[in-house]
Amino acid sequence: MDQTRSAFCEPLSAALKHALGHLAPARELSVAATASLESLRAKLCFSLPEAGTDGARVVDELVSGVEGGIINSAGPRFFGWVIGGSLPAALAADWLTSAWDQNAGLYACSPAAAIVEEAAGQWLKGLLHLPATASFALVTGAQMAHVTCLAAARHALLAKQGIDVERDGLSGSPAIRILTSTEKHGTIVRAVRLLGLGEKNLISLQADADGRLPAEILTNALQENSTAPSVVVLQAGDLNIGAFDDFQTLIPIAKKHGAWVHIDGAFGLWAAASARYRHLLAGAGQADSWTTDGHKWLNVPYDCGYAFVADREAHRASLSHRAAYLTHDADARDQMDWTPEYSRRGRGFATYAALRQLGKAGVEALIDRTCGHAHALVTRMGSLQGAEMLWEPQINQGLIRFHDPRNGATDADHDAFTDRIMAAILASGEAFFTGTTWRGRRAMRVSVCNWQTSTEDVERVIKCVARTLEAAK
Ligand SMILES: *Cc1c(COP(=O)(O)O)cnc(C)c1O
Repeated sequence: MDQTRSAFCEPLSAALKHALGHLAPARELSVAATASLESLRAKLCFSLPEAGTDGARVVDELVSGVEGGIINSAGPRFFGWVIGGSLPAALAADWLTSAWDQNAGLYACSPAAAIVEEAAGQWLKGLLHLPATASFALVTGAQMAHVTCLAAARHALLAKQGIDVERDGLSGSPAIRILTSTEKHGTIVRAVRLLGLGEKNLISLQADADGRLPAEILTNALQENSTAPSVVVLQAGDLNIGAFDDFQTLIPIAKKHGAWVHIDGAFGLWAAASARYRHLLAGAGQADSWTTDGHKWLNVPYDCGYAFVADREAHRASLSHRAAYLTHDADARDQMDWTPEYSRRGRGFATYAALRQLGKAGVEALIDRTCGHAHALVTRMGSLQGAEMLWEPQINQGLIRFHDPRNGATDADHDAFTDRIMAAILASGEAFFTGTTWRGRRAMRVSVCNWQTSTEDVERVIKCVARTLEAAK
């Protein structure tokens, strides 16, 4: 074997062996971490030795060092936050992405990475029922997708006022207000901060009982200061109950007032890929920009989010970059013109592979199947003695609360009991749920995003929760 080959062979073979050791028995491993903070620190944090270590040994020692600290979030019984696993082809393509180690900022720097992104961008727009002419960017996640979309919004809204924000900055421009609902995700707030729009200009309007922004409230807010440049941020799937704003009603109202409409569909935009759930996104194609993730419901490895912008020129103007030492090809798409990053990972490969592995029918089946499992989990857990269904999943998100069985138990007791049951489920290693405080009450969130979750997993989790409740009596 030649020297280069042997230098890579052992570490990569070790990685393959360890990866299969993690992935193949995923159903048998504890879903939760089993190592403590102290033990992880004790194993992993030491002063960097003077001498280097053989590559394969580094891999072996890394694996033993992290043992117990790797959460089985890529496995089938992980229902915390909103987290997907990795489809096999996507994971393999992600490994190759590292092996190829392309700088996917420019076509000239990796023609294949640029073209794969072009293909993936078109496929994504098709699946998500977005305008075929929209521009797009593959970024690290929904957070940076919001930044990308809102940078385009900032450009377009201020250009209408005769201001070149990229050149002049924000100091001489009128404040842009961002109207959104109380159910917005925190990444919207951070995007607003990063873009210098100012958190005080973000106005959270009260959502209704279904988590949707009422038309009248939006209309009144838009009329209140009708000359202010405005962004309206709507939601396709909020993180607690998966609520969808009424796009068909709200977008025309926002447009009438000259606002830029952005949709946070970090996971919910994927409902568009399913005939059964697509109606939830009726009218969403009329927005100006959209955010979704690849690393959640599509089951692409982290980091992978997507930004889409209807006004290509606003998108390009807000981010594009030219420098004498860069090589631009007139015909090709340089990713750098659309993304906030400069040097970047060729993250299109994993998305391309995920979409190829699933096909259109497979994406639709993934959405339908996970929604079905979420519904079964929540309704059946909710009917267990001592449990209450707070929100029946409309898509793949629902809420459960547990009731302290003692006589005269108060709401605060039920809150504490809910946390206790969640902790006990976690300690069992059988399933992973995370909590939330929803409308003033503690609740267990149920989010199903993983391609591997099966009917047997659902049965197993319901049994585990039933046992946990029984033991807590
Ligand atoms: C997860 C999530 C985000 C943030 O996405 P990242 O990919 O973690 O940046 C934004 N909005 C909603 C609704 C989400 O669920």
